[in-house]
Amino acid sequence: MTPQNILNADLHCHSVVSDGTMTPEALAERAKTNGVELWALTDHDEIGGQHRAAAAARTHGMHYLTGTEISVTFAGETVHIVGLGFDPDDAAMQQGLRNTRGGREQRAMEMSDSLAKAGIRGAYEGALKFVGNPDLISRTHFARFLVETGVCKETSEVFRKYLTEGKPGYVPHRWASLQDAVAWITSAKGVAVIAHPGRYKFTPNEEYALFTEFKSHGGQAVEVVTGSHSAQEYVKYAETAKEFGLAASRGSDFHSPDESHTDLGTLPFLPGHLTPVWELLEDRIR
Ligand code: AMP
Ligand code: MN
Ligand code: MN
Ligand code: MN
Repeated sequence: MTPQNILNADLHCHSVVSDGTMTPEALAERAKTNGVELWALTDHDEIGGQHRAAAAARTHGMHYLTGTEISVTFAGETVHIVGLGFDPDDAAMQQGLRNTRGGREQRAMEMSDSLAKAGIRGAYEGALKFVGNPDLISRTHFARFLVETGVCKETSEVFRKYLTEGKPGYVPHRWASLQDAVAWITSAKGVAVIAHPGRYKFTPNEEYALFTEFKSHGGQAVEVVTGSHSAQEYVKYAETAKEFGLAASRGSDFHSPDESHTDLGTLPFLPGHLTPVWELLEDRIR
């Protein structure tokens, strides 16, 4: 395998098992076509696609790490923690994710009621048409329904006008704790990674608390190069990785050819002075 930082690793994307539009097999093929050498499928709160993704990667002669992206509530905000290289058959991890997924259906019905009050009817049923995994109805599926019905032009506009705090369709939700999410990942012999830190609306103090507590719970890495960051944020979070002694990850967060602006395997390489997260996971790469 290509050594160290000059590796086309894409360790963050979504399939129909969560809120992506492509199957694990189609994603593997797309990743291979785009030159990805090390891949991970990281569905939200779900590892149901892991065996399929690993098998598809093997077919294409692409290295693979198991993955997931866990929804966490920290300081009143939703934070995402990516897990990489864990044992997908670990019982505590599976139970933890099952608990985290619970409540999504109830939340979806409340989102639908809230949208109805804003004059948008049938959103629950409408969103369901886009759901690939009945356990994982997400805001993204509602966003696709609002695009399909012409309420908005694209999903990013939906999030701007609906489904986010203070807007119609937003329903607050309590996800896993940071401590639990990191514990599930590390006890299953994986590495926990703070996903796209540039996306959270934290004050500098809150962000410092996130990194400090994440470290104290056993977290080991942070996404530096992600489809959610600007070039300035690559630099900013490269410095944060150094400051906290964290390894660095790289991932597109690809969801769909029609919606995602960053395709699999197309991001810049990790800055050379950082420790790539895959160096911590050498014995778990398949
Ligand atoms: P949920 O887990 O149901 O709260 O949905 C979260 C998902 O919504 C994220 O993983 C993204 O895929 C999507 N999302 C959140 N904010 C935005 C945004 N501003 N633009 C596009 N997609 C978004
Ligand atoms: Mn998503
Ligand atoms: Mn995320
Ligand atoms: Mn993601």
